[in-house]
Amino acid sequence: MKILVWNEYRHEKQEEKIRKVYPKGIHEVIADFLRADGHEVRTATLDDENHGITKEILDDTDVLFWWGHMAHGEVPDEVAYLVRDAVLDGMGAVFLHSAHHSKPFRYLLGTSCNLCWRESGDSERLWVIEPSHPITRGIDRSFFLPEEETYGEPFVIPTPDKLLLIGSYSGGEVFRSGCLYERGNGKIFYFQPGHEAFPTYYVPEVQTILRNAAKFVAPTEKIHVTCPHVRHVTDTEGYVIG
Ligand code: ZN
Repeated sequence: MKILVWNEYRHEKQEEKIRKVYPKGIHEVIADFLRADGHEVRTATLDDENHGITKEILDDTDVLFWWGHMAHGEVPDEVAYLVRDAVLDGMGAVFLHSAHHSKPFRYLLGTSCNLCWRESGDSERLWVIEPSHPITRGIDRSFFLPEEETYGEPFVIPTPDKLLLIGSYSGGEVFRSGCLYERGNGKIFYFQPGHEAFPTYYVPEVQTILRNAAKFVAPTEKIHVTCPHVRHVTDTEGYVIG
C-alpha cells in the first residue's frame, strides 16, 4: 500500500517544547510506525514544493494522512480541491486531531467542523463503541491518554456513518473521537487524539488504531465517475439494446 503522511510541520520548527516531543516532526513518527507494517510511506509538508501535493502524487497514493493546525489558511484551495477530488475518486484519508478544521476535511464534509476546546491539563479515556470493527481491532474496551487537549461537543460535523470511539476527559467533556465517513468512492476516518504538545503518536493503542485505519480506508479501486450523455441504441424493431 502507498501511503502519504502530510504534516503542516510548523509547531515543531517554531517551538522548542514541541520539537522536543517530535524532533523530526509528527509526520516522521507516523510514517515510521506505518512503515513497520510494510507499507510504502512518503511524507510531505506545507513548505514543500506545491505544498507537497500534486495530482500525480495523489494518483500514486492509496491513503493520505493529514495533520494541520496553525496554517490551514496557507493551504491553497486548489490543493484542498485536489485532495477532496482524490478522495471522491477512492483515495482513503485519515484526518488527525486539529485537521478537523483543515480545508480538505471541511470541503469533504460540508460543515464548519467547529468544536469546543481548551488546554487545561486534562487526561482522556477513549472508549471503543464498535469492538468488532477492523479499525478498533486489538484495542481493549478503552485506553487512557495521560495528557491530551480537551475537545468537546458540539462538534459540527455531519452525523458519522459510523462512530467508533468516544473520548471522555477528566474535565467532564465527551467528544466523538473516531468518526468514519464515505464520500464518493473514498473512505474517511477522523481521529481526535494528537495534540502537538503531547507524545500521543507514540502511544501503542493510538498506533494500532492508525495502522488499522490505513488498511480499512485503502481503496479497493479508484474510479473517476463522469457524467456521460448516454444515447439509446435500438434495434430495427425499436428495442433498446444499448
Ligand atoms: Zn491541538
